[in-house]
Amino acid sequence: MPDDARPCPCGSGLTSRWRNDARGIPLARVCPKCEEQKLSGYRPEVLTDGNYDADEPIDD
Ligand SMILES: [Zn+2]
Repeated sequence: MPDDARPCPCGSGLTSRWRNDARGIPLARVCPKCEEQKLSGYRPEVLTDGNYDADEPIDD
């Protein structure tokens, strides 16, 4: 079931979707209005490099 049709929690009222990191881990729900702002809080490699160093170990 797609989970991409909810209003964004930022309050814009726009449809939001999950933005995943380079490993496919959901980071945050974003809409076109707040995506850039929310993603600016993450290191670039988290979004682009699946081999980034995580702060916490991940079992997979
Ligand atoms: Zn938003």
